[in-house]
Amino acid sequence: MPILPEPVQNLIYAFERLPGVGPKTASRLAFFLLRAPDNLSEDLAEALKALKTATGFCKICYNITLADQEICEICADSRRDKQSICVVEEPLDVLALERTGGFQGRYHVLHGVLSPIEGIVPEDLKIRPLIERVKQDQVKEVIIATNPSMEGDATALYLRQQLIPLGPRLTRLARGLPVGGDLEYADQNTLLRALAGRQDMD
Ligand SMILES: [Zn+2]
Repeated sequence: MPILPEPVQNLIYAFERLPGVGPKTASRLAFFLLRAPDNLSEDLAEALKALKTATGFCKICYNITLADQEICEICADSRRDKQSICVVEEPLDVLALERTGGFQGRYHVLHGVLSPIEGIVPEDLKIRPLIERVKQDQVKEVIIATNPSMEGDATALYLRQQLIPLGPRLTRLARGLPVGGDLEYADQNTLLRALAGRQDMD
């Protein structure tokens, strides 16, 4: 029999499955909630439930959107340049780039990067819909803004190979972002500089 009552133990196990949370932090969080006012765990439970039921993905760029919206606000905004697409790994990267205010085009979220080690192949990412968009909207520039990591670079090279025959200008964010770091953690100015100084991929 476990020493802790099952509901507590279950919560600890659930926390442990989150990235960056070890057994110690998981226990600390569980006991914190046990002692916290009821409405905190209720609010948390409700927010967690709504996370999956009340959200969806934009049919065009795969950014996060509300469940009852087919396309996101950026794709719905006719002032945003359709012929310039910035390709990112995750929805949080869209947020980071939007905060710089330095990009007036649209986005495409891959939902990951190629990784032979983790068995992630092109079919697991939103690459096919990107190719379709580039063709359909006669896209003039694709900025590949995957993270400056080994997987991010490999993904950029794969995209280049796929997109080159379609003719758009292909650029990559300038170096200067911390290598191995995530776009989402880069500060606004660094990101703005990387965007402004983007280089042709050839
Ligand atoms: Zn969208």
